[in-house]
Amino acid sequence: MANVANKIGVLGAGQLGRMLAQSGAPLGKEFGFYGVSENEPAAQLGHAFFASKETKSLGDLVTFSDVITYESENTDVALVREIAKTTPVYPAEKSLYMSQHRGREKGLFDQLNIPCAPYQIVDSLESLQQAVEEIGLPAVLKTTTEGYDGKGQFVLKESTQIEQAWAEIGGKELVLEGFIDFQRELSMIAVRNANNEHVYYPLVQNVHHEGILRYTIAPARQVSEALQQQAEGYMQGLLDALDHVGVLTLELFDTLDGLVANEMAPRVHNSGHWTQDGAVTDQFENHVRAITGMPLGDTSVCQPLAAMINIIGKTGPVEKVQNMPNVFLHLYGKEERPNRKLGHINIVADSEEALFETFKALSDFLP
Ligand code: AMP
Repeated sequence: MANVANKIGVLGAGQLGRMLAQSGAPLGKEFGFYGVSENEPAAQLGHAFFASKETKSLGDLVTFSDVITYESENTDVALVREIAKTTPVYPAEKSLYMSQHRGREKGLFDQLNIPCAPYQIVDSLESLQQAVEEIGLPAVLKTTTEGYDGKGQFVLKESTQIEQAWAEIGGKELVLEGFIDFQRELSMIAVRNANNEHVYYPLVQNVHHEGILRYTIAPARQVSEALQQQAEGYMQGLLDALDHVGVLTLELFDTLDGLVANEMAPRVHNSGHWTQDGAVTDQFENHVRAITGMPLGDTSVCQPLAAMINIIGKTGPVEKVQNMPNVFLHLYGKEERPNRKLGHINIVADSEEALFETFKALSDFLP
């Protein structure tokens, strides 16, 4: 990329777009959003936006933008290909295409020798029965596309559940995965720009409840240098194979036999929100830097420990947070709704004890 781009178009107008704009504005970037309503989190920031599909065409966003990015791995690949004829889209089509289908994603993990669960694609009750025989139980049945926050999944424990599982989420292409007996869930955020610079954040630990991320601890405790290096090696392989530009997130299971990849996302990620207050350069700024042809920022952690707690469904007693030291509130301007991500709380701490005390004081926000 010869020139630094300053006008960024985002497909989507949710909280990820909003936080991209919050971190990109100090760098002199302007943002346009392509969403569905002016009530969406990013539209409320007041930057240039195109928030209604009815009144503003996608063409206006493309005309406005030097570069286009997106908020979701479910973004239409054909749309991205069309836009890319006139305006660069980062991460480019290949990253989107590979990461929006669990089968293609696992095929790439295999190709790069990144361990993942044994899997088989199924598209009928008979092929599911066959896959259960080969992979064994327990196993996890997932839709190949569009699953998120644990939706479109069925944990199969007994073969008597096969028909029920097919009835609940079948009728479309699925993947059956062997159940991974993990010690904990980790993720890594990495960034690559078009000049082939790579940077990596430390491995973090994620705790889910009912399929939804509830909190992240950064860096994950008891991560050896070798484990961090191994995860960085996997990410480097993925970034290079995809010719990826922007943030890439990899979710991993930490098992007694080592790291096992679960899935990746070609975008800024909920497990990286802690970087806003806990890292020298946050994931949003680094995504903006990567897609606009800037050098990448320092991914070091500012304090020994950081954490992020999601605010889900109900806003809760956020006034508590206002006078707590080392605690930072981020609200997205969304209305309360069950299981909806409404905001998050970032914490920095100089010791595990201090972090534990803060978690205790914030127990209203924990499952
Ligand atoms: P996913 O949508 O693939 O991220 O899955 C949501 C959650 O389900 C993960 O964060 C894990 O807690 C759990 N899970 C997914 N796949 C597996 C698996 N193969 N074995 C065990 N647990 C899994």
